[in-house]
Amino acid sequence: MARKIGSRYTAHQILGRGSAGTVWLGEGPEGPVAVKMLREDLASDQELVSRFVQERTALLGLEHPNIVSVRDLVVDGNDLALVMDLVRGTDLRTRLERERRLAPEAAVAIVADVTEGLAAAHAAGVVHRDVKPENVLLDMQGPLGPGGSHRALLTDFGVAKLIDTPRRTRATKIIGTPDYLAPEIVEGLPPRAAVDIYALATVLYELLAGFTPFGGGHPGAVLRRHVTETVVPLPGIPEELWQLLVQCLAKAPASRLRASELAARLREQLPSLTGLPPLDVDEPDAEQDEAPDPPEPGERTPPLAPRERRGAVPLVPGAKPDSNRDTHTSMRVPAPDELAGGAHGTARVPRSPGVPRPGSARNRAATRRRRAALGAAALVLVTAAGVGTWLATSDSDATPQDSEHSTPANP
Ligand code: ADP
Ligand code: MG
Repeated sequence: MARKIGSRYTAHQILGRGSAGTVWLGEGPEGPVAVKMLREDLASDQELVSRFVQERTALLGLEHPNIVSVRDLVVDGNDLALVMDLVRGTDLRTRLERERRLAPEAAVAIVADVTEGLAAAHAAGVVHRDVKPENVLLDMQGPLGPGGSHRALLTDFGVAKLIDTPRRTRATKIIGTPDYLAPEIVEGLPPRAAVDIYALATVLYELLAGFTPFGGGHPGAVLRRHVTETVVPLPGIPEELWQLLVQCLAKAPASRLRASELAARLREQLPSLTGLPPLDVDEPDAEQDEAPDPPEPGERTPPLAPRERRGAVPLVPGAKPDSNRDTHTSMRVPAPDELAGGAHGTARVPRSPGVPRPGSARNRAATRRRRAALGAAALVLVTAAGVGTWLATSDSDATPQDSEHSTPANP
């Protein structure tokens, strides 16, 4: 099922599907490549296509051993394709799902790699904006690094920026993935390099713990936690590593380390982490997190899925609860009162070590099934809301509250 892309590339088989499109194994004049075909609704947006072409230079200029380089951008009829370096391996999400938690040395080695890629991008004035395990690819054909880790490369540079057209950025829209969004983005500030550091620290926490510090439940509740909650220590984490995490998860962007410094500090710590087993923590119980809403008289309490949280307070009216980790393109910046208001939120308290973890394999399978289902649903939602915005020639946008927030909400 070979397929021509432009005059120079042929796509042979599908490597994976993502939220922005489908990635194919392809062949170009210089050998094998990965070709990401952008989703049709993205590719048919004229404004997006012209931005795509404008971004060419910045995207093509990023070259680093820890960055998946974009080699070419092809606009061919209705097709819009990003030609990238082929990485033979898997993404970090897949590895994390398989192993549940990584040993500190492997986790830090992977994150140090990504930090170095980020440092190069930041030095070139490029902010990634969607750092998460899905966007970290592991090169399984290269030599192994510390802790048996594969070289990690950050991918999808510029994609968030691409779909964030100027009319979408009037402090009303958030682009990103709720679990990894820095508090200043939630508050409507423009994303600067420090948002990538926050997201990367979230990834490090997740690799060590098996869950993100502020994730779970409704995206609105997740956004609120980024702004209002403090991160809860992980039992057994080496103190220096914990201090680094806390510093990079600081609410104030200026308090976070810069990428180059973070990379150096992570590398410094690597020798002391050799041989440490994965941390003995378990995912917090939903029941333990937040007090359940009292049921209405006569109301039946529906059974809870393992990772769903009760009492999550929606900040995005009309949005469906959603625990997946897709890139969201249609969230809006919550108003200050929504962030402050009436939530019975508490920090997620990691379960103490030694407490048995009931049905973990079952939980993982259920999580995967639910994520697949939610992923499909979210894609439909995002497409419905997103197409309305991207092709904003009519007022059919599914989020009517947009118009109420056309100026920054910050005083
Ligand atoms: P999106 O960002 O649109 O959600 P991804 O970039 O995550 O999509 O791509 C989906 C899948 O395609 C990934 O999980 C990975 O398996 C595969 N893939 C993406 N980029 C590459 C690449 N450069 N080399 C090899 N496989 C890739
Ligand atoms: Mg991606």
